[in-house]
Amino acid sequence: MSLSHETIVIVGTGFAGLGMAIRLKKSGIENFVLLEKADEVGGTWRDNHYPGAACDVPSPVYSFSFEPNPNWTRVFSPQAEILEYLKHCADKYQIRSHIRFHSLVQSASFDEKSGLWTVHIEGQPALMCRFLILGTGGLSRPAYPDIPGLKDYQGPLFHTAAWRHDVPLRGKRVGVIGTGASAIQVIPELVHEVQELKVFQRTPAWVLPKADGVLPKRSQAGNWFLRKALYWRFEMRALALLKPKLMRFGQKMAMEYLEEQVKDPVLRKKLTPRYIMGCKRVLLSNDFYQAMSLPQTRLITDGIERIKPGGIKTRDGVEHELDVVICATGFQVAEATAPFRIVGRSGQVLSEVWKDGAQAYLGTTVTGFPNLFIIVGPNSGLGHNSIVFIIESQVQYIMDALRQALRSRWSSVEVRPDVQVAFNDKIQKLLAPTVWSREHCRSWYQTPSGKNTTIWPGFSFTFRLKTLQFDAAAYDCRVSETVGETVQPQLNPLHSR
Ligand SMILES: Cc1cc2nc3c(=O)[nH]c(=O)nc-3n(C[C@H](O)[C@H](O)[C@H](O)COP(=O)(O)OP(=O)(O)OC[C@H]3O[C@@H](n4cnc5c(N)ncnc54)[C@H](O)[C@@H]3O)c2cc1C
Repeated sequence: MSLSHETIVIVGTGFAGLGMAIRLKKSGIENFVLLEKADEVGGTWRDNHYPGAACDVPSPVYSFSFEPNPNWTRVFSPQAEILEYLKHCADKYQIRSHIRFHSLVQSASFDEKSGLWTVHIEGQPALMCRFLILGTGGLSRPAYPDIPGLKDYQGPLFHTAAWRHDVPLRGKRVGVIGTGASAIQVIPELVHEVQELKVFQRTPAWVLPKADGVLPKRSQAGNWFLRKALYWRFEMRALALLKPKLMRFGQKMAMEYLEEQVKDPVLRKKLTPRYIMGCKRVLLSNDFYQAMSLPQTRLITDGIERIKPGGIKTRDGVEHELDVVICATGFQVAEATAPFRIVGRSGQVLSEVWKDGAQAYLGTTVTGFPNLFIIVGPNSGLGHNSIVFIIESQVQYIMDALRQALRSRWSSVEVRPDVQVAFNDKIQKLLAPTVWSREHCRSWYQTPSGKNTTIWPGFSFTFRLKTLQFDAAAYDCRVSETVGETVQPQLNPLHSR
């Protein structure tokens, strides 16, 4: 088997993979490769092209700090613009020549002796590298609902993250399963087209109006200030997530909005959440409630019993005949699996180590898995602000780790088990008094046993402060004289600090 050697392999070309690659490039490191299973960059924004797809954090914040975009047309930009932006970043920073598309990583294993990872790619020779960086995304594996008969349905059935633009919806009877973040974006887009829209809801979401609008080029000229102002406005929302008592103000606002928008008391009751706001992602929409109030829309809350060849049967015995079924059922997140088989030191398999809930140190490194860095790993997700801020923090941390490792000729860098345990104990302690841990709060942030392995329980700036520098003392760093030239990148001294 012929193996090619790279210093750094990055998996994924979304915000995380591209952000990492650009920082490497800016630091003068060229010896890296990005592996991407698809045929284009963009990750989430390449895959989620359903009607109405847009970000729910303002675009000036939901973008790289080093690459402001004067071309956003709206405060919350639509998917096509975000994808265009990511393609622009890949082109401008000359990342494409480092990307291998159509490269699905199937597994990776660490060799203790050499301190190298071997990365197995479907249908290609394996690749060896010293550092493996995962930018495989928290929301890149669609979750289909676990409903009996899903396969029996005879009409078109698809997930919002795999939208079938070839399926005509005009004049059709359409069922949407789910009322989460994707559903509330797609429903207002479909409602005027279809003959009948049946929305199957398990749990209603808290919804607030979206302060959206046209973003004039003029106001983006001073983008730095706009970005800072929007960042701090959204950052303040963390206060209520961390101190649930404050959430009553948010809930009051959301209830007033619901009352103003939905006049039918029965529908309003069905749309009223019975759990604390913030437990699940708070949704922003100006047209979801209006769409739910239209005569062609029906909200069904009886629970789905099974999918039949011609539609959906609910627990009250009613069979809803449908021409198309759309699953707006989100992604596989908190269940304890790694994105692919990752075998670390002493043959440990990451998905097994994580079987009772994923955990890492600073959401980035895992004991037993040297030289592995995860971007947006366990407990680094946010419920209130832009994940790009977290991604840039982790990229900074990994850059510093790589610089130190390459300078000191470390063959392996592994977070100490005691450090990881103490860190995670603290995370779970910090989560305890927050909205995410309240009674009756069940969300995709949690594992089936109720452990929150997704959310960072604090302000995003505290995460930034913790990741400013690589804290080598928290790691077991092994020096090896045998770290070969093949794995030494060219560090450009001008950019290396
Ligand atoms: C509809 C939607 C709207 C969202 N809106 C917001 C928002 O407003 N604000 C916010 O902060 N977050 C939002 N998010 C979360 C969003 O996922 C992140 O903001 C961000 O895009 C994640 O970037 P990423 O690079 O980590 O992952 P991704 O964008 O998911 O990229 C991962 C990449 O890795 C590739 N990959 C995965 N596994 C493999 C493998 N085995 N081999 C090779 N390649 C692989 C995938 O093909 C993909 O290209 C939204 C998510 C969705 C789905």
